[in-house]
Amino acid sequence: MSECVFCQIISGELPGHVVLETDDFAAFLDTRPVFKGHVLLVPRTHVETLPDLPDELGADFLRASQRLASAVKDGLGAQGSFVAINNTVSQSVPHLHLHVVPRTKGDGLRGFFWPRTKYADGEAESYAARLRQALGS
Ligand code: AMP
Ligand code: ZN
Repeated sequence: MSECVFCQIISGELPGHVVLETDDFAAFLDTRPVFKGHVLLVPRTHVETLPDLPDELGADFLRASQRLASAVKDGLGAQGSFVAINNTVSQSVPHLHLHVVPRTKGDGLRGFFWPRTKYADGEAESYAARLRQALGS
């Protein structure tokens, strides 16, 4: 038996409110929702973070997230959604999961406080160059 709670939900060893099942993915309700209807989309294969997702699953993962974002509107009457993935930092379950949180104007979710910083002279280009190198672009 896997030690991973999301693998256990996928295999049926642990209960879950599953809302979507495809060959490669499952989605189920988060047990501690930000708002009711908050769902988690997970690949059936155990990968830890987004960069670990096999290339061939990327497009379908995005497509499934689109279906869930539509579903919280069409099915729950949400006006929109908040979609997010924690990778390693703030990730409490080490099995890739994409949060789809139903949103309604005035629901009180203020998002995150993003502190801002400044580049020193020449520093921005050095960061850009390092990113380009990592992206191979
Ligand atoms: P994160 O903090 O981004 O890793 O999100 C993990 C999420 O998994 C949290 O929102 C938890 O509430 C949720 N969670 C943990 N255990 C379960 C479970 N057994 N079934 C459904 N959701 C869970
Ligand atoms: Zn797993």
